[in-house]
Amino acid sequence: MKLPNYVAGQWLEGAGAGEPLVDPVTGEELARISSQNIDLNLALEFARSRGGPALRQLTYTQRADLLAKMADVLSANRDEYFRLSLLNLGATQADASFDVDGALYTMKYYAKIGRALAGGKMLKEGAVLPLSKTNTFAGQHFLVPAKGVAVFINAFNFPAWGFCEKAAPALLSGVPILVKPASPTAWLAHRMVEDVVKADILPRGAISLVCGSARDLLDHVREEDIVSFTGSADTAARIRSHANVLRRSVRVNIEADSINSAILGPDCAPGTDLFDLLVKEVVKEMTLKAGQKCTTIRRILVPAQEFNAFGEAVSSRLSAMKVGNPRNSEVKVGPVVNKAQQSACLDGLKKLSAECSVLFGGNEDFQPVDADPQKSAFVQPTLLSCENGLSAKHVHDVEVFGPVATLLSYDGPQDLITMIRRGQGSLVASVFSSDSAFVQEVVLGIGDLHGRILAVDSSVGGQHTGHGNVVPSCLHGGPGRAGGGEELAGLRALLLYHRRFVVQGPIHCIKELSALCADTNLLYS
Ligand code: NAP
Repeated sequence: MKLPNYVAGQWLEGAGAGEPLVDPVTGEELARISSQNIDLNLALEFARSRGGPALRQLTYTQRADLLAKMADVLSANRDEYFRLSLLNLGATQADASFDVDGALYTMKYYAKIGRALAGGKMLKEGAVLPLSKTNTFAGQHFLVPAKGVAVFINAFNFPAWGFCEKAAPALLSGVPILVKPASPTAWLAHRMVEDVVKADILPRGAISLVCGSARDLLDHVREEDIVSFTGSADTAARIRSHANVLRRSVRVNIEADSINSAILGPDCAPGTDLFDLLVKEVVKEMTLKAGQKCTTIRRILVPAQEFNAFGEAVSSRLSAMKVGNPRNSEVKVGPVVNKAQQSACLDGLKKLSAECSVLFGGNEDFQPVDADPQKSAFVQPTLLSCENGLSAKHVHDVEVFGPVATLLSYDGPQDLITMIRRGQGSLVASVFSSDSAFVQEVVLGIGDLHGRILAVDSSVGGQHTGHGNVVPSCLHGGPGRAGGGEELAGLRALLLYHRRFVVQGPIHCIKELSALCADTNLLYS
């Protein structure tokens, strides 16, 4: 079976044999994809000329209603998405829920908050700025939907959430979307787009899907388009420096990889609630989706005196978790996505092992439950320890995109801040401590290099949203190696798909234009 592309309002099969999609547990081929011979320039042109104008004829509220319909259709097919997650990603129920339910929640969230923008065609930003003594001549900033296409180039680990978290704010903004899921796991995103198309919710050209290589796609993007990329830092650098993207100053949003940290405060000795909560969080992060989350904890920093106790507590929990075929109900940890990712993880582990010792796992030949190690793509959950994080190199630099984390010790806040900053910009850091002065020092020390900081003290306890969990009301993204992108943050996500301009003119003209606008101050509320 070859999955077709959806471009220019038609389902079209790509040429050639295509690339296989495989089951990472059995190694069996499930389907094929190909984008060969698909006219990607035409796909973009059709979206710009047909999808965009049709979407922009609607108000924000009407487009929010479209998102609500999409959420209904997607929710009705949730079971099928879980089935495909199991087949193509080897996802446990918890893994599939994280991606699929996260996607549905995000779509519903934008359908709901989008209605608050009411009937406008563009957005007014800030107050009228007097520019003359009599106030007849004034300035006003506006945000208008881009008249191009939002091109989504997504990573393999979140085929459902990656699609919805980008699609919702773009469509709400009135910008048509072209989705290019990562090849290894394209089936789930393909099925979601197929369900939306079949339900005939969106105008023709508002949604397109390309499965397989991006080929010459970036040669055809233009100044009014937006490229929103999620994936590795290496691919991000290629996209950012693409000649056409540079020449036309195409707006690019990058969500890349990240060496995220979790910190145990000096006040959290073994036996305290916060010590236990962080142990639980680290184990959850290492094992959920087999550690294949951009936000996963890669470095755990604990006070030197708690180093051994923390390592033992995490190892003990990991040893109780069955790793293997998610069709077995006792299994808690599934495979990584394919053999190539397995090799990349094992290579990364070797690099880290040069400056770390293994506290738990690390056995390349371990036997997964109900799976053939020759055909499957498992990585044993592995906890490493690094005695001297200040002089270590790879620990702060190598992202092993699997169930692997490294424990480091620190002697004081300055040591800690120095080590965390060597990650060169991350999506998220968590600090578990009830010592407010310590938390403040850490936040001030690392805030500029992080998109999100999760602070958990004893008043919050288990009620926090989770280190790795991205909630649509809050910012997702991070500076430096994390890509420098910004996504979500409620209605602020719409800024990516709008263009800001100022009108300096007669006050009556500004008032007339303002009457066409929804209230943008909502964006910042
Ligand atoms: P990847 O290899 O960089 O691929 C990402 C996407 O880029 C895929 O759709 C890929 O298509 C496409 N691509 C590759 N080369 C391209 C080119 N020259 N031009 C245009 N598109 C190109 O990343 P991945 O292995 O799928 O994902 C894992 C990485 O993503 C990890 O490093 C992880 O940290 C990161 N990630 C970050 C976030 C975040 O929000 N910050 C979220 C999830 C994952 P093909 O698959 O067809 O090659």
